[in-house]
Amino acid sequence: MTPPHETAVITPAMVAALCAIVGTDGVIAGDDELLVYECDAYTLEKHLPGVVVLPRSTEEVAAVVKLCAEHHLPIIPRGAGTSLSGTVLAVTGGVMIALTRMNRVLEVDYRNRRALVEAGCVNAWVTNAVKSQGLFYAPDPSSQSACTIGGNVGTNSGGPHTLKYGVTTNHVLGYEMVLPDGEVVWLGTTPDGGEDVDGYDLRGAAIGSEGMFGVVTRVLVRLIRAPQAFKTLLGVFETVDDASQAVSDIIGAGIVPGALEMMDQLITQAVEAAYHFGFPLDAGAVLIIELDGLAASLDKQAAQVVEICRKNRARDVRIAKDDQERAELWKCRKRAFGAIGRLSPNFITQDGVVPRSKLPEMMRFIQRCSEEYGLRIPNVFHAGDGNLHPLILYDERDPDQVRRALAVSDDI
Ligand SMILES: Cc1cc2nc3c(=O)[nH]c(=O)nc-3n(C[C@H](O)[C@H](O)[C@H](O)COP(=O)(O)OP(=O)(O)OC[C@H]3O[C@@H](n4cnc5c(N)ncnc54)[C@H](O)[C@@H]3O)c2cc1C
Repeated sequence: MTPPHETAVITPAMVAALCAIVGTDGVIAGDDELLVYECDAYTLEKHLPGVVVLPRSTEEVAAVVKLCAEHHLPIIPRGAGTSLSGTVLAVTGGVMIALTRMNRVLEVDYRNRRALVEAGCVNAWVTNAVKSQGLFYAPDPSSQSACTIGGNVGTNSGGPHTLKYGVTTNHVLGYEMVLPDGEVVWLGTTPDGGEDVDGYDLRGAAIGSEGMFGVVTRVLVRLIRAPQAFKTLLGVFETVDDASQAVSDIIGAGIVPGALEMMDQLITQAVEAAYHFGFPLDAGAVLIIELDGLAASLDKQAAQVVEICRKNRARDVRIAKDDQERAELWKCRKRAFGAIGRLSPNFITQDGVVPRSKLPEMMRFIQRCSEEYGLRIPNVFHAGDGNLHPLILYDERDPDQVRRALAVSDDI
């Protein structure tokens, strides 16, 4: 076994053995090509893997893992590399197994509302494959146009619609995984099985385990009926406190929106500059509130939400007038991180969850941290489930800013 912190050596013979399994076009070993795999979306730390392999089947993954086990080489499973916490860093080098060529939706079982997909399948492609039949795959991380189902399993991803529909573990019925010795197992419901599983329920074991237990190769996901109708509202508030109180009051009134998202002033300004939706530049915070369900029930709920927002001093509450406006609004929200480039060359995001009732207190704390450390910290987050994303802006060319960015991250 490679001792801790000592970089694993990948010999030419090992590269040749990997090529024999996945083909020469499935192995990346050149230094400049490996740079693509040196980090994920947490770009502050970087480690090059010794080699990257791009298998096309479970058999190829199993053969690679077995070879690595025999040679005591670390393996690092990787999807799209959009994780925000350095989970795919090859800290001691080793063999990175990127699943991006195993990206197909293999089968859709409409009668049982399930789909069998390869682990490298992009999240949004699952819904795209079934939406004509009125179904969708619910977990929708904001990175869903790039991130993979295998990565979602690795991180137990949530997203804007987690508030109502839950996270990845609530929508994965079972999966195939290659264990560290190369054995292939299926955990949970099988594609041809019923919902109940005999024996121990091990399905949850690897969900959220960041690839530590093996390489997931195929996933059986639950599909659900798409809501009949949506009403998407934009609430404009003078302060984050007022917007946070409106979040608590909406849930307190027994309304469970499909999504309840907040953007503070700094991120709203950046998003507006990038995507020109028409967000007010002087608002303290905006809320995106999406109601979904039976069309007949939504008008009443929307009226209640408008009233709650107004009671919390909302300056304006708008309802998206059609599907296109709704899509535009979501595009802005889901691409908010992409707009950060307008504010700063680098950012680190934290991803923490607090009880909804603590949102105002936490947002004030983040503001104080920002002042204390002299770094700007915009916030865009899943307010309904108290899932915060303070984005700490810094410039990596300035070592003191890097130091302060790490220190303020610790504090938060
Ligand atoms: C702009 C942006 C918005 C985001 N929004 C959200 C959000 O709303 N909600 C959210 O939860 N996250 C969000 N994220 C974080 C990230 O997109 C998710 O964690 C996503 O699930 C990672 O998927 P990936 O395919 O990129 O996985 P990677 O980053 O490649 O890997 C993530 C982890 O999963 C493991 N892994 C990957 N594939 C496999 C596999 N086949 N078998 C076993 N382990 C595997 C890796 O080893 C690693 O530990 C966002 C990221 C960005 C950049």
